[in-house]
Amino acid sequence: MKFTIAIHGGAFNKEKDFSPQTEYLKTVLAESAALLREGGSAMDAATHAVVMMEDSGLFIAGKGSGTNNAGYYELDASVMDGASGQAGAVASLRSFKNPILAARAVMEKSDHVLLVADGAEKFCREQGLEILPDPQSYFKPAHKESQVPKQKSHGTVGAIAIDHKGRLAAATSTGGLVGKLEGRVGDSPIIGAATYADENVAVSTTGLGEYFIRSVAAYDVAARCAYGGVSLPESVDQVIARIRGKGGWGGLIALDKDRKVKFGFTHGMHRGYIDETGEIHVASGPHFAF
Ligand code: ASP
Repeated sequence: MKFTIAIHGGAFNKEKDFSPQTEYLKTVLAESAALLREGGSAMDAATHAVVMMEDSGLFIAGKGSGTNNAGYYELDASVMDGASGQAGAVASLRSFKNPILAARAVMEKSDHVLLVADGAEKFCREQGLEILPDPQSYFKPAHKESQVPKQKSHGTVGAIAIDHKGRLAAATSTGGLVGKLEGRVGDSPIIGAATYADENVAVSTTGLGEYFIRSVAAYDVAARCAYGGVSLPESVDQVIARIRGKGGWGGLIALDKDRKVKFGFTHGMHRGYIDETGEIHVASGPHFAF
């Protein structure tokens, strides 16, 4: 049974001991691979990987999210299913444990793509998603200080997968920039900016969201392959170079229908992948290990 899943735990540019994050990525990959090996879909595996990272408290997504400038939490997430072309997203979610499940519910249980704030909360309650009775005490910011001088701390999570039927899927979840303005929404819930999947390519991004929105980064990776005839690695390198050239900062993971995985980032990114061979690859450093 052929499959591949790749994940990221956010971009950074300051070295420290990242072994807890790197070790945890191995567990996420092993569990998600088991799901794919049993015949699970790419969407199930990508969602499962993101739920695990949301619950870990090790990344700025789910439990590890940081507050906005008013001291409360606003979380964003999105999913896209390449085979069906369907997508779902939520933004400024305040009281739910797993924003990625909320995004998936929007995709599967509504006629819409993006729900925000109070409307999203109401929808999630109606869907029976796990609500946090006291969000302020559940969330424990994974990083208090910015890892980038003069910039807000951040660290999204994401997963992309291809299953045994060749279906691609992408999922991205974040607490956004720590200390962001109330109501600020980054790229993570924006289909085409942070998350994109079609029958050829799946992408999830991390970094300073405003640059990824303005570059329509995730879709740009797919479009360069489809219309420009460039290979996936070239396309990712071009998109990252463009973001860097505009003064932006971050990274992305991409996977194509030929099961080629490509990681691109301006500085460093927690990342990893596994395929049907069972060999786990993880790295955090700014070097291009793979
Ligand atoms: N892209 C996220 C945002 O701008 C942050 C991150 O990836 O760390 O909200």
